[in-house]
Amino acid sequence: MRTVCRSQSTNEPHAEEPSARTASRSTRFVSALLPACLSASPASAIELSAPVTCPAGMVCPVQNLFDHDPGPGVRDFRCGGLGYDGHDGTDVRLPSLAAMRSGVEVEAASEGEVVGTRDGMADAGLEGGRAALKNVECGNGVLIRHADGYDTQYCHMAKGSVAVKQGDKVARGQTIGRVGLSGLTEFPHLHLSLRKDGRKIDPYAPEGASPTCGETKSLWAADARFAMRIEAPLTLNIGFSDGPVTNADIETGAVEARKPGPASPALVVYARVIGLAPGDGLRLTLRAPDGTEMAKTEVPPVDRPKAQWLAFVGRKRPEGGWQAGDYRATVEISRMGAALKTSEFAAPVGR
Ligand SMILES: [Zn+2]
Repeated sequence: MRTVCRSQSTNEPHAEEPSARTASRSTRFVSALLPACLSASPASAIELSAPVTCPAGMVCPVQNLFDHDPGPGVRDFRCGGLGYDGHDGTDVRLPSLAAMRSGVEVEAASEGEVVGTRDGMADAGLEGGRAALKNVECGNGVLIRHADGYDTQYCHMAKGSVAVKQGDKVARGQTIGRVGLSGLTEFPHLHLSLRKDGRKIDPYAPEGASPTCGETKSLWAADARFAMRIEAPLTLNIGFSDGPVTNADIETGAVEARKPGPASPALVVYARVIGLAPGDGLRLTLRAPDGTEMAKTEVPPVDRPKAQWLAFVGRKRPEGGWQAGDYRATVEISRMGAALKTSEFAAPVGR
């Protein structure tokens, strides 16, 4: 039987970023309700469902994990560096702003009561500068109080998307808004923080990082394990363009309008890879329809974790025009010189 506790309000800030640890009026939307009877028992562990509903055909990978290193470094529960210093939650990323604009829903990870919300901030990321985001790092968000002293906080949601209000009872899996780009964020993603009795914990390893560098007493429900699996390093975006490609081209979807055709002056393949660990390198190769290698670029093994890496390479249009048929791109990710993962992409350029 579940113990019911009287609750009290605190003004502890719950924005995700370390700089937000000083309390302020603007962070009170996430005022936590800490249980007043912590000794009650038996308390059961929460089971979390995936907080993002990734549409079929879209990739929504885990980009950052909880940092277990108390010092200036970063260490995720696997003893890797997927994240950054002080990161206190789990980030689920969308592949682009275009994907965000298509509307990707955020769901309550467990049943509970909404104890705070914020909406109305622009999906502008860092456009206005970091200083303007002080104390509102979480952006548009929702804080939900669950049983047994747990709460979950959802950050960076889309402007105008928050679909619940303080006092609402929500079911596990209920839609509470959409993924956005509000607050202190450089790419569209959902940041999920989990707390137990007010203390931030890692759902993959709630009792702390283990010496075996693996999940321990994971709080992800069985049906969330696939969505919340960690695939880094991962090719997040891959495709062809008619010229050089920037991160902005990929994020905005502008690159989609630049698919190479018969008259294109160049044929370029691009790939954006996320979550590179030290020792990871990659090779990007473009092949003609007859299998001939047209262009290749290599990124040597990196010496520290890289959140993302954009590579592209291509060729100018030959005198006789482009050979008709399917052009092929291959991304080969290596670790310490050994093959780790390969992604393929093919598309026609036409006559
Ligand atoms: Zn985050």
